[in-house]
Amino acid sequence: MEDLDAAPAGAHPVIVSACLAGVPCRYDATARPDPEVVAAVAEGRAVPLCAEVLGSLGVPRPPAEVVGPDGEGATGADGADVLDGRARVVTADGQDLTRAFLDGARAVAEHAERVGARSAVLRAGSPSCGAGGIYDGTFSGRLVPGDGVLAALLRRQGLSVRSR
Ligand code: SF4
Repeated sequence: MEDLDAAPAGAHPVIVSACLAGVPCRYDATARPDPEVVAAVAEGRAVPLCAEVLGSLGVPRPPAEVVGPDGEGATGADGADVLDGRARVVTADGQDLTRAFLDGARAVAEHAERVGARSAVLRAGSPSCGAGGIYDGTFSGRLVPGDGVLAALLRRQGLSVRSR
């Protein structure tokens, strides 16, 4: 993993999804540990953060996806549209979690700036962390091109963002 391998301890740490580091913070209270991410965190080269937990969403929590402004799926909207107020993040039964997703993404972005991070390695497919692909808002498991809310915000902040 280029970003993680290249980062010496203490210099420009890489922001990583906490669930990739082994923290059971996913909506279903599971983790998705990635050995390279776990090692990078253990060696002080990466900082694990979970935007949804920092946005005050609990564990476990209902899954959520990005939808259009009126709650419709399959619009092609992504996290950048959420940042710009053109899309929302909702649960399958319509609960609007947009504010929590924005708060959590901003908390991670502020910490990234504080520690001088220049890159992030995030969990694929997540409405927060997905980079380059997210679920389409129909809760049918269909992936479409686009970023999650956090991935979009970190890109705007100038970080190199990849998912795995
Ligand atoms: S918000 Fe990111 S770090 Fe948190 S559980 Fe979802 S994918 Fe993992």
